[in-house]
Amino acid sequence: MQKQELLGLTAPELEQLLADLGEPPYRGKQLYHALYHERQWDLGKVTPFPAALRARLSERFQVTLPETEKTFDSRDGTRRTLFRLADGCKIETVRMPEPGRDTICVSTQVGCPVDCKFCLTGVMGFTRNLTAGEIVGQVLRVMATNPLEARQRFNLVFMGMGEPLLNFDNVMAALKLLTDPAGIGISWTRITLSTAGVVPGIERLGREPLRPKLAVSLNATTDELRSRIMPINRKWPLAELLRACREFPLRPREKLTFEYVLLEGVNDTVADARRLAQLVRGIRAKVNLIGLNPGPDLPFRTPRDETVLRFQQTLIQKGIPAFIRKPRGRDIFAACGQLKLMEAQPASSTS
Ligand code: SAH
Ligand code: SF4
Repeated sequence: MQKQELLGLTAPELEQLLADLGEPPYRGKQLYHALYHERQWDLGKVTPFPAALRARLSERFQVTLPETEKTFDSRDGTRRTLFRLADGCKIETVRMPEPGRDTICVSTQVGCPVDCKFCLTGVMGFTRNLTAGEIVGQVLRVMATNPLEARQRFNLVFMGMGEPLLNFDNVMAALKLLTDPAGIGISWTRITLSTAGVVPGIERLGREPLRPKLAVSLNATTDELRSRIMPINRKWPLAELLRACREFPLRPREKLTFEYVLLEGVNDTVADARRLAQLVRGIRAKVNLIGLNPGPDLPFRTPRDETVLRFQQTLIQKGIPAFIRKPRGRDIFAACGQLKLMEAQPASSTS
C-alpha cells in the first residue's frame, strides 16, 4: 500500500486523518505541532503518542523532505543546495548570509514556463508545480542543516526557480504553514514573493487577508522590448501590469519592489531610467537594480558598474528610491536567474 504524505497538510487536515483512524482531534493538533514546530519527521518518534499509534501512523503515512543531492559553497558565504524530490525531479534552494539575518531563497516550480530570455531557469523549460509540502520542505531542510536558523532569524524570498503566481494555491498553502505561529512561525513581513507579472495573480494576492510583500520583475520600459525579453508581457502588457501594481493594497509603510535586471545596451540607458521613473511614478515603491548574472548561452552581457550607477542616479534624481543589488553566489551559479540545476562546480569558483 502506498503511504500517504503528511508534509504540506494543515492542522484541520491532520485532525481529519486521525479522526478517520478513530483518534480524538487533539491528536491531530499534536501531530501538527510535532511536524512543524518540533520538526520531528520520524513518525515512530512522535513522543506524545502511545507506541501503538506511532506504529499505525508509520504504517500508513510518511513525511518526505527534499533530499540534499549536492551543496555548493560560494566565496561570499552563499550556499546553493540541489534537492531531489520524491519523484526524482530536482530543484534548488539558496541561502545567503547577510549581516544580522540570512535570506533563504526557495523554488516554487520545477523549471519555469515563463521563458524570460535572460534567465537560465527559463531556458531549461517547465516540468511541474511544486506541492505545498515541497515548498515548505525546502525551508525545513535548510533550517535543519543550519542550526542558527532554528531561531528563525531569516528572511524568506520566493525568488528561486519558477513563477510563484502560476502556482498560486500551493504557494499560498505553503505560506500559511510557514507563517502559522503554532507551527513554523515565520513572520509575514519577513517574506517576499517575486513575480514576472501575472496580473490575475497579483490581484488575487492583493485580496488575501494575510500575504507576503510583493516584488515585480519589470526589466523593460516599453512593451516592444519587454515582450521580446519577457514573453509574458504579450499576455499582460505594461499598462495592465502597472494598473495592477497601482491598485495593489499596500499596508501602512509597506513598499512594492520593482526589480530591474540591467542588460548591456538593451535596457540600461538614461532614457530607459527616465521612462522607468515615469512608469512607476505615484506607486509607493522602490526599484532594485541588478546587473545581469551571466550564464552560458544567454544572449546578453552585464553592463559596466558605471552604467548601473548612472541608471541608479537618474532614478534617484527623479525621486524614485533605487538600490543596487550585489550579486550573491555568482561563482557557484546561485545568483538570480542562474538556477538551472548545474551539478558540477563551475570552473570559475576555483579561480
Ligand atoms: N519568477 C519570478 C521569481 C524568480 S526570478 C520572477 O521572475 O520574478 C527572481 C529574479 O531574478 C527576477 O527579478 C528576475 O528578473 C531576476 N533574474 C532572472 N535572470 C536573471 C539574471 N540572469 N541576472 C540577474 N537577475 C535575473
Ligand atoms: Fe521564470 Fe522568473 Fe526566470 Fe522569468 S525570471 S524565467 S519568470 S524564474
